[in-house]
Amino acid sequence: MKRREILAGVGAAALAGCAQEQTDSQVAASVETFEWKMVTTWPPNFPGMGTGVARMVKQIEQASGGRLKIHVYAANELVPAMEVFDTVSRGAVDMGHGASYYWKGKTEATQFFTAIPFGMNVLEMNGWLYFGGGLELYRELYADFNLVPFPAGNTGVQMGGWFNTEIHSVADLKGLKMRIPGLGGAVLERAGGTPVTLPGGEIFTSLQTGVIDATEWVGPYNDMIMGLHEVARYYYYPGWQEPGPTLECIVNKDAWAVLPADLQAIIEIASAALNDQMTAEFMARNAEALAELEKDSRVEIREFPPEVIEQMRVWTNEVLDELVARDPKAAKIYASFSKYKKKAVRWSAISEQAFLNTRSL
Ligand code: CA
Repeated sequence: MKRREILAGVGAAALAGCAQEQTDSQVAASVETFEWKMVTTWPPNFPGMGTGVARMVKQIEQASGGRLKIHVYAANELVPAMEVFDTVSRGAVDMGHGASYYWKGKTEATQFFTAIPFGMNVLEMNGWLYFGGGLELYRELYADFNLVPFPAGNTGVQMGGWFNTEIHSVADLKGLKMRIPGLGGAVLERAGGTPVTLPGGEIFTSLQTGVIDATEWVGPYNDMIMGLHEVARYYYYPGWQEPGPTLECIVNKDAWAVLPADLQAIIEIASAALNDQMTAEFMARNAEALAELEKDSRVEIREFPPEVIEQMRVWTNEVLDELVARDPKAAKIYASFSKYKKKAVRWSAISEQAFLNTRSL
């Protein structure tokens, strides 16, 4: 038998086995329908994140033959963005979508599952989450909050942010009030800045009215839709604070437990699909938006000076050392994260990084 025939044979045998083992309760489960509510941290239909979530719930409904229907609520439609975690945790709604580092006030270890400064890019994050033990640790941490998390989106490396003053040295960050969530914010604090965590929908007005002096958000595509290029002049790269941020889908554990196994599998698969598709969408749209931005005379795209990046890296290590010293959960997750990262960095150096260098020659 050729390899293809062997595989086909195995598949058919496995399917026959499944059919024979299907019990009455599974048959009953297959006709039961579920209507869920999902709250998100994104503005209504926000391109990339909100539209990605809309695509995911449509896929879930189609794949389940209409047995799992999910109503999506944007930030503030049912609850404010920053209440998504609590709302799903207590079971007021079944599902949520956002970013784990928004919940650092619940437990600081959540931040590793979005991004940490100078951490891992999208390829490395996915390697750790799916095949390096990361997802098990993510589920263990969220079980304390009655939640089941799924990686569900990644923007790829972000931009460093929008400023109205040039950044020549870390001294230029002193006194700066900047929207920058997660551990990146803790690093800005070392520089004498004031980090704030604002949901996407509040960034433009805050920057326009001077409530904040600077902001990071995502990248050219999302930032332009938000109009950030109209209220800030300097657009800095690279996004040292978020090299490959993973977004999350969270499901209330009690709601998850009563879902038939096939619907659970559909959620798992749809989340993984969104995780990949969002990265693809951001790659395509950021490239288009960057071309637009480069033509815009109001905007200057700048690279952070090497000495600024170097100092940020030093402060990041201090921030991480202090975090793991005070929080045993963060210590456990960081041990896995950093052990994996050490290996991944070596492989990335002679694969992606070496290849990208050949294109810049
Ligand atoms: Ca960001």
